[in-house]
Amino acid sequence: MTKVAIITGITGQDGAYLAKLLVEKNYTVVGLIRSYHTINKKGLEYLGVNHKVVLEECDLADLSQVLAVIKHHGPQEIYNLAAQSSVSLSFKQPIGTIQYNVVSVLNILEAIRMINPAIRFYQASSSEVFGDSELPIRETTYINPISPYSISKATAHWITKNYRDSYGLFSCSGFLFNHESFLRSENFFVKKVIMQAVKIKKGLADTLEVGNIDISRDFGWAAKYVEAMYLMLQQDAPADFLICSSRSVTLRSVIVHVFDRMDVSMDRLHVNEELFRPTEILDIYGDQTNAKEKLGWEYDMSFFDVLDILIEEELAYGK
Ligand code: NDP
Repeated sequence: MTKVAIITGITGQDGAYLAKLLVEKNYTVVGLIRSYHTINKKGLEYLGVNHKVVLEECDLADLSQVLAVIKHHGPQEIYNLAAQSSVSLSFKQPIGTIQYNVVSVLNILEAIRMINPAIRFYQASSSEVFGDSELPIRETTYINPISPYSISKATAHWITKNYRDSYGLFSCSGFLFNHESFLRSENFFVKKVIMQAVKIKKGLADTLEVGNIDISRDFGWAAKYVEAMYLMLQQDAPADFLICSSRSVTLRSVIVHVFDRMDVSMDRLHVNEELFRPTEILDIYGDQTNAKEKLGWEYDMSFFDVLDILIEEELAYGK
């Protein structure tokens, strides 16, 4: 029998890549969207799965709508990717970020508990929940969120764990570190750097304006990271995993690499201290050993190789 998977946030970067993966595995994929009128199908179209998924309007903040959609489609698996996903924006919209990112998770888990506790649930958590901690980050690292976004993701994680411990649900969190692709939203650092470098090269922009670039992040490639989400729901028992490349690079080195590839002078870089965040993680990288050993998830790409793929896609398909 064909399995049914619901993906919330299917219009986002990960939603599109996960939809493609599950369609290739012969799942019936149901994607939840905010509204048919404002839907952004760019990612689904880019990956050629737009007509291979069922799209349903559902406000995850409204339990009755969540109950209805789960009853109607009878999924075996739910991947919860919908969220206000920007750390920077969360400082400007802390209430909306925390409200939506927490209540949506609670509603889905309550609905699973009421309708069919056998439904497996994946929660898109984030490395951001660990804050400025001892490195490398491991599954056992103390959770210490330092932004409204990470507070929302930490809370959502504890809810996910609580439903697992209290009701025996197969609910787990994937603590994913930054992962990028051509489909990344334009307000995220790597996408912004590549798009702006292309514009400068074409004479359409003068400078790249950035905040603090003397910080480091553990970056990976989205197409490979969604495989880990799928693997987590295929295990015998639910558990949380870190998904990361296990090494960090500075944001400055990302700019140097992209500018070098695009033949753009570093004079075009402008650091604006007004763009610095109120609190910032200086360096973060994880330990992927558990995901490798227990999930069989393999990832060994240098982020500079990923950048070369993204630059090529931007030059070929970017606007
Ligand atoms: P995106 O920002 O690309 O996609 C977010 C999705 O959530 C979109 O489908 C968006 O819908 C939907 N969404 C956002 N806000 C709301 C809202 N208020 N109501 C309903 N839907 C909403 O994120 P990614 O695909 O990059 O990430 C997927 C998940 O993984 C997110 O939860 C993110 O926080 C988490 N994550 C991502 C990491 C990364 O590096 N990419 C790292 C760690 C965690 P719409 O298209 O309508 O805006």
